[in-house]
Amino acid sequence: QTIGDFFDAMVARQPDALALVSRHEGRRFTYRELQAESNRLASALLNLGLAPGDRVGIWSHNNAPWVLMQIATAKAGLILVNINPAYRTSELEYALNKVGCKALVTMARFKTSDYLGMLRELGPQRLPQLRHTFWIDGKAAADVQEPGMQRFSELLASGDAADPRVAATQKTLKATDPINIQFTSGTTGFPKGATLTHRNILNNGFFIGECMKLTPADRLCIPVPLYHCFGMVLGNLACLTHGSAIVYPNDGFDPLTVLETVQAEKCTGLHGVPTMFIAELDHPRFKEFDLSTLRTGIMAGSPCPTEVMKRVVNEMHLSEITIAYGMTETSPVSCQSSTDTPLDKRVSTVGTVQPHLEIKIIDPETGAIVPRGSSGEFCTRGYSVMHGYWEDEPKTREAIDVEHWMHTGDLATMDAEGYVNIVGRIKDLVIRGGENIYPREIEEFLYRHPKVQDVQVVGLPDRKYGEELCAWIIVKPGQAATEDEIRDFCKGQIAHYKVPRYIRFVTEFPMTVTGKIQKFKIREAMAEQLG
Ligand code: ATP
Ligand code: MG
Repeated sequence: QTIGDFFDAMVARQPDALALVSRHEGRRFTYRELQAESNRLASALLNLGLAPGDRVGIWSHNNAPWVLMQIATAKAGLILVNINPAYRTSELEYALNKVGCKALVTMARFKTSDYLGMLRELGPQRLPQLRHTFWIDGKAAADVQEPGMQRFSELLASGDAADPRVAATQKTLKATDPINIQFTSGTTGFPKGATLTHRNILNNGFFIGECMKLTPADRLCIPVPLYHCFGMVLGNLACLTHGSAIVYPNDGFDPLTVLETVQAEKCTGLHGVPTMFIAELDHPRFKEFDLSTLRTGIMAGSPCPTEVMKRVVNEMHLSEITIAYGMTETSPVSCQSSTDTPLDKRVSTVGTVQPHLEIKIIDPETGAIVPRGSSGEFCTRGYSVMHGYWEDEPKTREAIDVEHWMHTGDLATMDAEGYVNIVGRIKDLVIRGGENIYPREIEEFLYRHPKVQDVQVVGLPDRKYGEELCAWIIVKPGQAATEDEIRDFCKGQIAHYKVPRYIRFVTEFPMTVTGKIQKFKIREAMAEQLG
């Protein structure tokens, strides 16, 4: 099925159920209302002369227009291009031109950022393929005027919720049609545009919802960004395929509004990357909130410290939370535990393979499957593997081999029962004097130090040992630590060669807006410091 057909069937089943709450916009939709508005928007997009296969960008934080665009483009067969709201002119120019977006929906402004100003600056010379731009004119941008661009509300009003062309177009679409281009996070370098089909992301969203046991009684709080598959698939699609309600606490991430939203909307689920959960748990007002309605959620995106998982289970009542593992190129999830998985497995592993997918762990040099318990490159095959990188055949062939296996670049182990552990990225693996060191292991260890709030470990080039370890540490509020204290903590606990040679105390890490830490920037900063 296509996303539009699946969604329509859900609406028929429960038209009056709550579908969406966008707290910062003060808007609520039932399934029927969401359908009417997205049909209207699909009709408006067709009025612009757009046809199936055309690319339409969305450059915005989480809000109701985002979901409407997601459903409307899927119904009209348009390829939605998720654009990171943190992108600035040169990145936006690259993304829009790379995939040839003909239309764009954006916020007018956000905090101090002037989105329309950035588009104005680029102008038609640098965005030759972009024909239509709309700004989301909710409360925050009611007063904005911008010649040459239109309000999103005007676009919506120009459509007809009963336009027969929408249903007619929907009938021509196939589940294997590309429907979405998502850029990878840019954690290891330049973001890559993964082209995904209805079949890719609809199935993945569905199976994620199954693992979480979502039902129409669930309300899932989604503070993770929609422009990334975490929000769009693990959030929106998991809910929409299970008749659950989507709840957005805010446009950007803010731990306090997440806590307030969970309490006010009696949310049963909460998603986040580890840094978000840490910020919520450590918020000075954390204890004031009643979070007892929480049951399920997903922590993913980067290594999830076991200590954080335990606190989330014990202090946030997320007794059924799971860790998921995946990547943009695989729609995204390959491994996840179910809510039935024993707690120790749920907090310490990324679970087992998702239904209808294959996984294998190989020696990246020889391609041979490694013994259980040994680490190797994680590969996956099945419905979830992307169509390819947008118009980049060589890169696609590098990632997906002739037998259709996606090579993830991640290092993992699998135990006898099939539980997978992600031990790091091949690119981050540190080889010091011939010893393989997984930065993740050192991070988990240092995280146990009572003064450490968060820690990142990288390898730096070294003349003598090939590489040396470097730890960047954020200490807990009101605390101070010394390098010696950290080294003493390591002594006798971890092998001498695993004790970081360089230790720096910092107040933040270089991050993508998905909350992922860009280790390559830590390496760059250290290279500059050390000369
Ligand atoms: P880029 O490919 O541009 O460098 P990225 O790989 O971070 O960025 P995403 O597709 O957003 O872009 O993230 C996928 C990656 O995130 C995975 O390949 C893996 O390294 C990491 N990851 C995802 N989930 C987990 C997890 N549960 N534990 C550890 N790492 C994870
Ligand atoms: Mg990647």
